Amino acid sequence: MNKTCILGSGICGLSAAWEKERKGRKVTIIDSTKRVGGVVESEESEGFLMDYGPNTLSLRLRKTAGMLEECGVLEHAIDANPKANKRFIVRKGKLVALPQGIGSFITSPFLTCSGKLRLLLEPFLFKGKDSDHESVADFITRRLGKEALEYLANPFLAGIYAAKPETLCMRHTFPSIHALEKKYRSLLLGKMFGFEKSNRLPKTRLISFPSGLGELATRMKMAIKGNFILDHTVTQVAGENGKWRVFAHDSTGAEWEDLFDEVICTLPSHQLGKVRWENVAQTENISTLQEAPHFPLSIVYQGFDKKDVSHPLDGFGFLVPEIEKMDILGSLFSSTLFPNRAPADKVLVSTFVGGERNPELSQEKEALIFKKVSQNLSSLLGIRGKPVFQRLRTWQKAIPLPDKDFGKRKSAANDLNSSNRGLVFSGSHLTGPPLPNCLDPLE
Ligand SMILES: Cc1cc2nc3c(=O)[nH]c(=O)nc-3n(C[C@H](O)[C@H](O)[C@H](O)COP(=O)(O)OP(=O)(O)OC[C@H]3O[C@@H](n4cnc5c(N)ncnc54)[C@H](O)[C@@H]3O)c2cc1C
Repeated sequence: MNKTCILGSGICGLSAAWEKERKGRKVTIIDSTKRVGGVVESEESEGFLMDYGPNTLSLRLRKTAGMLEECGVLEHAIDANPKANKRFIVRKGKLVALPQGIGSFITSPFLTCSGKLRLLLEPFLFKGKDSDHESVADFITRRLGKEALEYLANPFLAGIYAAKPETLCMRHTFPSIHALEKKYRSLLLGKMFGFEKSNRLPKTRLISFPSGLGELATRMKMAIKGNFILDHTVTQVAGENGKWRVFAHDSTGAEWEDLFDEVICTLPSHQLGKVRWENVAQTENISTLQEAPHFPLSIVYQGFDKKDVSHPLDGFGFLVPEIEKMDILGSLFSSTLFPNRAPADKVLVSTFVGGERNPELSQEKEALIFKKVSQNLSSLLGIRGKPVFQRLRTWQKAIPLPDKDFGKRKSAANDLNSSNRGLVFSGSHLTGPPLPNCLDPLE
């Protein structure tokens, strides 16, 4: 039985471990923390259940659902409240529901009349020229107009990547939408008539778990028989006669090492420089992998008495376009999304601050961040009283962005993988950050 060592127990590491065990490998998973899941983490405090990393997993592909089903995780999943189909954006300082049908498309003030007419022009436009390196901002402006960029793409990318559409590369951020233009010329026509549906579930499911999304990681861990070496920081990986020796130490400094036939590295790109890579061909490519851009992101969790909030919180949450010049990126109505996120008669709102738009704010003192978030929420949601519960979580390097150099980093990883037999580089900086990508890290 070949021995495989997985570096990192985030969702990429756990998925790689599962995949390798299915192929009959003896798997060891090492992580520097005392728990599995990486940024996927949930915690309950005073009856409020907070997701510190991702809040939802969007299940679109049969392959992802099949994998979660096979490892016995999917049966424990819960679907988001159907109200979550309703999403808001901020326009002129007020929440505006995004249309869910043709009737509300006409009546909703989410875009001006000229902005809506510009959207409807899309099927009549020619295909773009050099679309492989185009930013999301240029792609959206070209196909859907400037207002769609400012009021749709900008807030949505702040919500998904905490980044600006100008930084992200269309081909790598939204490969299936990018492919629609290439194949069918028009996004709308391609979506309506031509899109490849066979690998998709009949209906996208937005899921989490009773104890929060952290349960995804703990349940995946239960499905893996391998050896988990937690609280061990990997310090060195060295080639040795066609095998790979991994060195680590625990939090007391005690050293650990073992020899493996195969090593799969799913460490975050910003941690790769802290590991010594010995007898690795093309080590210069590891420096290229470290160039993945990240921004800091803070999440503020606030609990309120239901009676103190005028807005019914009847949706997924809201996003703030940059042009609205507010301090926050957007909020999730967490206690609407899934059950048991707040005690009875209370609600939980999770607000995102910082990202590429405002990295300085996430470095400010907790009291100032709380104050700014409270001011923004009071005006948008009509909140009267003070929060009855308040927490802050900051990720200094939150999400690796698929920017214009993403392709260069993918090639660097491919070169490393093909020149070092048994050593594989993966992780969300190479798969792309959405969880479904991380659940298929060896693709
Ligand atoms: C705030 C936030 C919100 C998000 N929201 C969503 C969402 O709603 N939906 C969605 O689909 N995606 C979301 N994402 C993205 C998604 O959660 C991540 O892309 C994904 O979980 C990353 O998994 P990973 O395994 O690549 O990395 P990580 O989760 O970062 O795991 C890497 C692991 O490596 C370990 N490690 C690091 N250095 C060492 C070392 N030297 N030795 C040993 N171990 C080490 C770390 O402890 C960690 O456990 C979000 C991400 C963040 C940060």
